[in-house]
Amino acid sequence: MMWLLYAIIGLVIVASLLYFLGNYTFWLPFRSSKLPRVVMLHQVTPHSDASGMNMPPEKFEQLLRLLVSKQSIFCFVSELEQYREQSNVVALSFDDGFMDNYIYAYPLLKKYKAKATIYLATQIEGIEKLSHVQIHEMASSGLVEFGAHTQHHVNLLKLDDETAYQEMQQSKHDVEALVGKCPSFAYPFGRFNEKHQQMVREIGFKNAVSTRKKIEPYNPEHPFNIPRVSTHGAMNALQMRIALAKGRYKL
Ligand SMILES: [Zn+2]
Repeated sequence: MMWLLYAIIGLVIVASLLYFLGNYTFWLPFRSSKLPRVVMLHQVTPHSDASGMNMPPEKFEQLLRLLVSKQSIFCFVSELEQYREQSNVVALSFDDGFMDNYIYAYPLLKKYKAKATIYLATQIEGIEKLSHVQIHEMASSGLVEFGAHTQHHVNLLKLDDETAYQEMQQSKHDVEALVGKCPSFAYPFGRFNEKHQQMVREIGFKNAVSTRKKIEPYNPEHPFNIPRVSTHGAMNALQMRIALAKGRYKL
């Protein structure tokens, strides 16, 4: 029966190793500080579990402190082109437009003078959304720029082209009606194809972010599939550093 014991021990060792390499992706190639870090976030609240969708406020503050300690230059996603020659450029981005972005994230953005882009799914149902008053206050602070994320948070790949175009264009109009401008777009669920990238251009967005977990140079010729650094509310300080250095913290 000894062989069974060895087999189990061997499996446990392999599983532990894979788990470790998956959670500490130091083996991924290092990305130069000349490449911008576009960070993807959703909720910031102490009232939900830490997850890929929620970074608790104290963890978000830890992230901001880390970025400030690296002399990061915070810019809006729409400003990535003009910051191309700079190092340590960071564009924080929040998808969907959760009210907790105002309650918990915005005070920290002010405290650390960090800019962020919030992508509003303007007619989304089922979440506690930012109010118009909150949106106005954040926009006029100069620290937050708003982008569009379709009206109803739709998977563009499941729509016919005309409906997809409408969703994207109308969300831009909605954001413009609120704050006067809407230069950038985020694809809901990260689902889109070549045609949708063309639509983003035709509708007049300057650029668009996806959910590809990478750090890449900003390409002004084709800025419609910008990758982002993935985050998780439960990431520890080391995972945070790895994510910012390499683009992703986990497999
Ligand atoms: Zn979304």
